[in-house]
Amino acid sequence: MTEAKIIDGKAIADATIEKVAKAAAAFKEQSGAVPGLATVLVGENPASAVYVRNKGRVAERVGFHSIQKTLPADVSEAKLVALIEQLNDDSLVNGILVQLPLPDHVNESKIIELIKPEKDVDGFHPINVGRLGAGQLDQALIPCTPAGSVILAKSALGENLSGLNVLIIGRSNIVGKPAAQLFLAEHCTVTIAHSRTKDMETLAKSADILVAAVGRPLMVQGNWIKPGATVIDVGINRVPAPEKGEGKTKLVGDVDFEAAKTVAGAITPVPGGVGPMTIALLMHNTLVAACRQNGVAVPASAT
Ligand code: NAD
Repeated sequence: MTEAKIIDGKAIADATIEKVAKAAAAFKEQSGAVPGLATVLVGENPASAVYVRNKGRVAERVGFHSIQKTLPADVSEAKLVALIEQLNDDSLVNGILVQLPLPDHVNESKIIELIKPEKDVDGFHPINVGRLGAGQLDQALIPCTPAGSVILAKSALGENLSGLNVLIIGRSNIVGKPAAQLFLAEHCTVTIAHSRTKDMETLAKSADILVAAVGRPLMVQGNWIKPGATVIDVGINRVPAPEKGEGKTKLVGDVDFEAAKTVAGAITPVPGGVGPMTIALLMHNTLVAACRQNGVAVPASAT
């Protein structure tokens, strides 16, 4: 039995980050400006706090000006609005990332729509969603996790994905829907499955690329996978790991990795697959945003 190639998301993300760092240096030389990223965290969700810290750390590593704003969980919506408006007007800030989810008393859509589209490095503003949907990828800011998923698929299959069958499981605005748009832009035949989909197994069996973005541990079984397919597991689920000791936990994806790797041609692990790509692409988006705002071409070394 042959085993799937394990796609090393960490290594590919590191390479992307190095490219962004080089391109950021070229951008600085050309424009005299420094790309700036502001991250906004509301509340003390430990997972969100870790993500935001990592984003700030990597931003500094690539030579960006990095600002981190932390607000208490009970902050008023008006105060958050005022902060976004201030960051929108700050010429040293090229990218604004508001870590989701926001507390229930804050209107998440209102906050996302308040961010200037050209500073929306998460790619969640309706203008960027619309540009992606219209195929205007060169003008949009593209959501980071889906963009990372396409890069990882290409690392296994080469640049040309044209005509391949892609099954995306999950239809969220953050992952599933934008991933579908991106694979469509790569001329794939895209199917989106979700919680109401009938007979997902049959759909999965015809997928050359399977993207799982659900948030249900080990939902995708090994025998669903088409032999030789490329499997991109976006899911991040914390589950008990009694084998590591009492009360210990571990991260797993949405795919039964051990079973799937005996069938797939290539597969991303969790952790170490899609996760690291998200931060790398955030840096890429910030550089792109800085270039556009300064009327400078994105250095070729950035891609
Ligand atoms: P979400 O909860 O917003 O969306 C989940 C989607 O799965 C929904 O569209 C729903 O219809 C679908 N779904 C639910 N149950 C299903 C079922 N039984 N069969 C088929 N589809 C079903 O989640 P999200 O924000 O899209 O995140 C999905 C997963 O990806 C989570 O585990 C999340 O932690 C992970 N994630 C990872 C990264 C990363 O950087 N690697 C980034 C974002 C999200």
